[in-house]
Amino acid sequence: RQSEKASGSYAFYDVEMNRLIAGRLYLESGMRRALQRDEFFLLYQPKVDIHTGQVLGAEALIRWAHPKDGIISPIEFISVAEETNLILQIDAWVLDTACAQAKIWQDAGIAPFRIAVNVSAKEFTDSLAERVKQALARHQISPHWLELEITESMLMQNADGVVKIMSEITAQGVKLALDDFGTGYSSLSYLKKFPIDTLKIDRSFIQGIPDDIDDCAIASAIISMAKQMKHRVIAEGVENREQFAFLQKMGCDEIQGYLFSRPLNVDVFSDLISKKISLPSIIF
Ligand code: C2E
Ligand code: MG
Ligand code: MG
Ligand code: MG
Repeated sequence: RQSEKASGSYAFYDVEMNRLIAGRLYLESGMRRALQRDEFFLLYQPKVDIHTGQVLGAEALIRWAHPKDGIISPIEFISVAEETNLILQIDAWVLDTACAQAKIWQDAGIAPFRIAVNVSAKEFTDSLAERVKQALARHQISPHWLELEITESMLMQNADGVVKIMSEITAQGVKLALDDFGTGYSSLSYLKKFPIDTLKIDRSFIQGIPDDIDDCAIASAIISMAKQMKHRVIAEGVENREQFAFLQKMGCDEIQGYLFSRPLNVDVFSDLISKKISLPSIIF
């Protein structure tokens, strides 16, 4: 009986494994096709000045218009893309598309604002600065259009090499933001060595504001540390007025979140920056 049970659970395990593997293969071959047939697209989520409400920039966020499964979120496919190295092609597409869009806005006479592009750990190599330089040159855009969002885990890989890569990027005039700040393996003493412009407080610490005392303490501590280190600080995932009011009181510089805007398609974002439409007016 026992062995029957055991083999039964093995069979179940196999079925689950097969499903998982099949799912991965489906995603992997799907992503290859998506790259060829241009099924990915970008949304732009505004980053807003907490004092004036002005749109200072946008984060470019990838989506996949799957011909059968509809719009797929990056949460569903980025990790598989990273495991298969397809992330390199996907993120190259993202960088290229964001720069091409910046060129369109630049030609339309819109003053440069930062378009932030997420960088995967796999991409963070010696050639990154060169790839960024080539993208700017190919599209003939000012570096003021571009910001890269990197994460703490990338900084811990190999600290000396990392500083060099980052410096080569910032020397071009491209800004660096530290994404999901507080969730990684933060060695605060390392932080001062890196040429980072902005700390981005992770959404998980914003969620509990104002009721969760710990979240409030963490968010305030990150803001005050950022200020003292002369970094800018932005909160991601701001969804309500209480969070907004708290962050404003604490001296946070910028916010990004559903309170002001969800990620927007390129046409709506264009209307926003050319002031054909405006964000909901919150009291600043
Ligand atoms: P992230 O870089 O931390 O991006 C912020 C995520 O928070 C986005 O999810 C955004 O839509 C979401 N968000 C913004 N405001 C709010 C809010 O008020 N409430 C809630 N609940 N969520 C909010 P998204 O677009 O699903 O992206 C998820 C993650 O996928 C990103 O996290 C990033 O790590 C990754 N990702 C997205 N686009 C790319 C890309 O082009 N390349 C790479 N390598 N990763 C990407
Ligand atoms: Mg990001
Ligand atoms: Mg983030
Ligand atoms: Mg996050």
